[in-house]
Amino acid sequence: MNGRLLRWLMSLALPPVNGSDGGPRLTILRHHRVFESGARPLYRLGVSERVLAEQVAMLRGAGLGPVTVAEGLERLAEGRPGRWVAFSFDDGYADNVRRALPILRRAGGRATFYLTAGLIDERRVPWWDIMAHAIATSRRARLVWDIAGRRLDLPLGDERSRRAALAQVLPCFRVDPAEQARRLDALREMLGVTSHAECELATWDEAAQLAEAGMEVGAHTLDHPYLDHLPPAAQGAEITGSVERIHARLGLRPEGFAFPGGAYDAASVEACRRAGLAYAVTTRAGDNRARARASS
Ligand SMILES: [Zn+2]
Repeated sequence: MNGRLLRWLMSLALPPVNGSDGGPRLTILRHHRVFESGARPLYRLGVSERVLAEQVAMLRGAGLGPVTVAEGLERLAEGRPGRWVAFSFDDGYADNVRRALPILRRAGGRATFYLTAGLIDERRVPWWDIMAHAIATSRRARLVWDIAGRRLDLPLGDERSRRAALAQVLPCFRVDPAEQARRLDALREMLGVTSHAECELATWDEAAQLAEAGMEVGAHTLDHPYLDHLPPAAQGAEITGSVERIHARLGLRPEGFAFPGGAYDAASVEACRRAGLAYAVTTRAGDNRARARASS
């Protein structure tokens, strides 16, 4: 396991330091994909099976969890002193069901899985996977792209340079969905890539296994847009739509929501309330204390 992460997890198990009130504290560890140990995908948004198993074993050993986000928030609301670590998995990848679920089950741990309901329903590939596939499979030696008022000139000669190119290109996609689609088409054309990335998201049957195993299922919009780039009505459609779709497909009503990319504004929070969600999580770092619930 990464040394810094391990030290940080261990620090959660220590008694409160001087000056701390020792009140309840919840840390949410936000995961995405779970890769086969030893796999080296170009876009490594996630952990390996082995690291995940180590994290779970460490938390179980220290009595910190992992718990679901809803469970952690309940404990904060009860005001019982103590510390917990909640695990969440964003997006709804099949590897969550195939790799994370067995690890959690074996250890008696729980987690929350936020599903991108529209992409799952229509078996569509998330934009970042299309982007990574194009960069990974292009036969071009360089990517030269005039984008957002600047010129990217990136070598693609080996895996390391492709990985670096991907890191440079990613932030260019933090725009509204229509512009994002235009940029994605332009990128594929420039890279000369016509093949399509596979959809690696879970099917609804797989997602149902999460709920059957006692995991929390939350919503994560329909199409995974940056919500702060959408007008309020479109945000409402994305948020309520994902809650309704999960309800229709899995017969459960999510109480939790994760903002895609951590992006939100006042309209997103209001839309979550209107959708009947009890809480929403972002990606801002820090402990969650009892008072955080109303605004979280
Ligand atoms: Zn996401």
